[in-house]
Amino acid sequence: MDILFLEPVFKERIWGGQKLNKVFGYQLPYEKTGECWAISGHVNGSSIIKNGRFKGRTLRDLYEKDRELFNHLPSPSFPLLTKILDANDDLSVQVHPSDDYALLHERDLGKTECWIILEAKAGAKIIYGHHAKTKEELKTMIDEGKWSDLLIEKEVNKGDFIYVPSGTIHAIGEGIMILETQQSSDTTYRVYDYDRKDDQGKTRELHLRQVVDVTTIPHHDQTPKQKTMIYKDSTITRYVSNEFFTVERWQVNGELTLKSNHFKLISVIDGKGTLNDEPLTKGDHLITTGEVYDLELKGTLDLVVSWI
Ligand code: ZN
Repeated sequence: MDILFLEPVFKERIWGGQKLNKVFGYQLPYEKTGECWAISGHVNGSSIIKNGRFKGRTLRDLYEKDRELFNHLPSPSFPLLTKILDANDDLSVQVHPSDDYALLHERDLGKTECWIILEAKAGAKIIYGHHAKTKEELKTMIDEGKWSDLLIEKEVNKGDFIYVPSGTIHAIGEGIMILETQQSSDTTYRVYDYDRKDDQGKTRELHLRQVVDVTTIPHHDQTPKQKTMIYKDSTITRYVSNEFFTVERWQVNGELTLKSNHFKLISVIDGKGTLNDEPLTKGDHLITTGEVYDLELKGTLDLVVSWI
């Protein structure tokens, strides 16, 4: 087994800030850094491997040429993307298409995503779903700008898990930091941007026709039921496991050894410890490759782990 530590890619966003430095100690290239693409094989920004025999290669290239490391997955490009987002301001209200729609119209994957709330100021809110009963009603409410009647707000707290299947209208509100696991896609349809203007006085493009096409109507919460497994002083919480991804949280206290036969994406969201004697610290992102092996974790570690 190889343990591939990854160099993240940062993205400038009008809603970003400096909190990724404060919380994780990352050196940020932009004043308004909004996104850390922590584990990415996407064409718009691939992680680079920092250690070992593959040092210097992009995850994108490694996945394409050395597929045996990834259980010979059939997907032509690396299928998952782990990001950390710092919403220093409200993000635009958006929705993502399903695979079928995205492949037909965008030549991209669709996007089902899920979030673990890493930080949230008191009273922080997200938008999650809508009140329209029919396509016509959705269209009319958008046309008439009846945003407060249309959009459903939800208060969130640190540690919450939010499942956002494709077709769900959503937005992250100001004062929230999330770790997001998603299908590796960059297709977003913007519903509403609070009529904000940029430095040149321009508003950002909206995609209302696509929004009406892809939004699930009526909205219903599809969040799976969480399962928790306890191993001595450590806990594994399974948030979701479906055709798009499995996402778990591993809270290690002391020692935890797990058998694995599949590659895994691992993000250290808190704590310190080791994985098979390799040191792990808060802010590290890594992939363990896909042979049969024991994962020996030691220390006090809070990990988000995903695979497909
Ligand atoms: Zn999204």
